[in-house]
Amino acid sequence: MDLPEDELVAAIRKVLSGAGPEVLIGPGDDAAVVAAGDGQLVLTTDALVEGTHFLRSLSAPRDLGYKAIVVSVSDIAAMAASPRFALCALTLSDVVEAGWVMELFGGMREACEEHAVWLVGGNLARGSEITIAISVTGEVVPGRAVSRSGARVGDRVVVTGELGAPAAALRIVRSGSPPRGEAELAAVRRLERPTARVGEASVLAANGATAMIDLSDGLGLDLSRLCAASGVGASVSVEVVPVAAAATPEDALGGGEDYELLATLPDDEAVARTGSELRGVFGVSLTEIGRIIEEGLVAVGSDGRERPLETKGWDHFRARSE
Ligand SMILES: [Mg+2]
Repeated sequence: MDLPEDELVAAIRKVLSGAGPEVLIGPGDDAAVVAAGDGQLVLTTDALVEGTHFLRSLSAPRDLGYKAIVVSVSDIAAMAASPRFALCALTLSDVVEAGWVMELFGGMREACEEHAVWLVGGNLARGSEITIAISVTGEVVPGRAVSRSGARVGDRVVVTGELGAPAAALRIVRSGSPPRGEAELAAVRRLERPTARVGEASVLAANGATAMIDLSDGLGLDLSRLCAASGVGASVSVEVVPVAAAATPEDALGGGEDYELLATLPDDEAVARTGSELRGVFGVSLTEIGRIIEEGLVAVGSDGRERPLETKGWDHFRARSE
C-alpha cells in the first residue's frame, strides 16, 4: 500500500462523500450512526486477518472468536451505544479443520452472551488465509451518540483503566518464552481477551463526554485522530498516563489493542463524578491525562519540558506480521 492508513481512509471518504439525510455520522468515526425508524442505529465492521492480526500457531481459536466480537463491540461502546446484533463473514483456508471453526464460534458466542449480542448471520468463503470479518449493530437514544468530533478547548482528556498491557503481551508471546508472574499472565490474558467498556462509555456520556474513541491503535495515534476530528489539539502529561504492571511507558503511549476509552470531559466536576461512578460501579479507574488545547499535540514530561507527542501507533499497512 502506497498510503498510510489514515490517508487512505481520507481518500476513500472523498469518494463516498455526500450521504443522505438519514446518515447522521458517516465514515471516519468508531462507528456510523444512522436514523432508522424512530430510533438511531449504530454500525461498525472490523476484520482480523491471519498473519496480520493473529497467527494460528499462537492464538487459540476460542480466544480469537471472543476477541473478534469484542473489538467491534468496543467500537459500538465508543459511540456510547448499546451493542445488539452481529454478523460474521469468515474466510477459511484449506488447512483449517472443522474443530477449529467450532471453537472460533464458541468464543464468539461467549463474547456475544457477555454483551447481550445476537450473532444473526454471516457468510463462509474460501481464501488463502483466514479472515474473520465481524459487523456489529448497536442502538443509541437519538441524539446521544458521542462522536470523535466534539472536543473543545479546555476539555479534560481522560482515559479508562491502564494502558500498554497488550503491547507488552505481544512481546512476551513473540519471544516464545511463557509469561512469568502475575503481571505478565494478566497482560497476555488482556491481549487474548480484551474488554469492551460498554457500561463505562455510557457513564462517560451521561456525565457530558464531548468526544470519545476506543484505544485500538495506541494512545498517541488515537488521540491525534480525536483531535483531528474535533479540530483541536491536546497537551498530555506523560507521567500521569496509567501504565499497566507488565508494560513500559512506551507501551502505554504507542502500543495498540488496549480497548480502553479515551474521552474528553468539560470540567473538573465531570471528571470527579465520572471517576467515582466508574470506580464504584465497574471497579475501573479514570485518569485525567491532559487538556484540549487549540492546536498541536504536546507531550509534557516530568521535568515540565514540552515535546511533540509521538503519534506513530499501529498503522495496519505498516504493521509487519512476525
Ligand atoms: Mg475504534
